[in-house]
Amino acid sequence: MQIHKKYGLTRFINARGTFTPLGVSRSSDKIARASAEALSEFFVIEELQTVVSEAIARLTDAEAGTVTHCTAAGITLSVAAVMAGSTPDKVAALPDTTGMANRVVLPAGHAIDYGQSLLQALRLAGATPVLAGTDEACSTGDLEKELAHEDTAGLLLVSSRLVHGERVDFIEAVAAAHRRGVPAIIDGAAQDMRINELLAAGADIVLTSAHKYLAAPTAGLIIGRKEMIRAVRAHENGIGRAMKATKEGIIGVLTALEEREQLDLNSWRNEQDEKVTGFVAQANELPGIKARLVPDPSGMPFSRACLTLNPLQSGMDARELAHVLRTGVPPIWVMEHKVDANQLYLELVPLTDSELQVILARLATVLSRKGKQKV
Ligand SMILES: *Cc1c(COP(=O)(O)O)cnc(C)c1O
Repeated sequence: MQIHKKYGLTRFINARGTFTPLGVSRSSDKIARASAEALSEFFVIEELQTVVSEAIARLTDAEAGTVTHCTAAGITLSVAAVMAGSTPDKVAALPDTTGMANRVVLPAGHAIDYGQSLLQALRLAGATPVLAGTDEACSTGDLEKELAHEDTAGLLLVSSRLVHGERVDFIEAVAAAHRRGVPAIIDGAAQDMRINELLAAGADIVLTSAHKYLAAPTAGLIIGRKEMIRAVRAHENGIGRAMKATKEGIIGVLTALEEREQLDLNSWRNEQDEKVTGFVAQANELPGIKARLVPDPSGMPFSRACLTLNPLQSGMDARELAHVLRTGVPPIWVMEHKVDANQLYLELVPLTDSELQVILARLATVLSRKGKQKV
């Protein structure tokens, strides 16, 4: 609370989701206290990594896991692991992949941009990204064609609302990689409640963010078979040096995993549903707005509120409304990826009831003012 005041920083309401430029998530007091306590202590980092690996193995169906700086680092490091293993001279050579298989195949629609091009996260390790199929569709046959090359190091799939095109069948895609004898990595950065489902597709490595819905300090989790995790960790003394986990990050992750272990998922889901349903009902009272619930397209157990504007009644289109919200006091940030369809999306998961009321009150003020001008 005081930090914003002290440094003159903007306080705002974040209905935009787990968005890096806005600080991603809110940690619980318990997580914040654990990380704060870690900062004034020394630790044997190896011990911390062992404890967190055991916690990951307990909470998921995987054998092991490790913490790195973030999911983007996880992409680079897991690709380093599938290309170079843990052989010391290869670890030292990266990103020079001379003498190593370095093609990493991915469906073309999975070449997303999360603030960085995912392809660059691959190239950073020295990998050559190979796109299979088109932005609209990628069949198992398309993947097989690109995997059938002696320099193929692995397959990368992305489970995210950011992917394009027809849904890729993960079980078939992973099986195609395994038929070629190469591992499959799944980037599920915002899918931490679906880790077991992603592992069940047969993935050798699943990546997830610790600072998105897990609400830990900034960190990435790399989850999978023991030997894979060992190979990833070998790169801590190579290209991974600049991607290392912090002690306060690991302790925060441990606390977040413990909170997740105790979470009653059904009541959490009901709480989220009630929150969005209530918001949508109130938003539907506003002039020129049709509100509805839209489930997370990649299967996280919550919905977002979608507001569709009728500019004739609301007096403004979605782009203008987003601008008005963002430049008001306090600023309100919403998801703007569908403004061309006159839609705004709001993610309510981390918001308090009073923040929801501020959003609804602002919408009411702005829309009735604008609507009236038109009449
Ligand atoms: C957010 C995101 C990333 C990047 O995650 P960081 O932990 O912030 O590096 C990578 N992939 C996907 C699909 C994402 O949603």
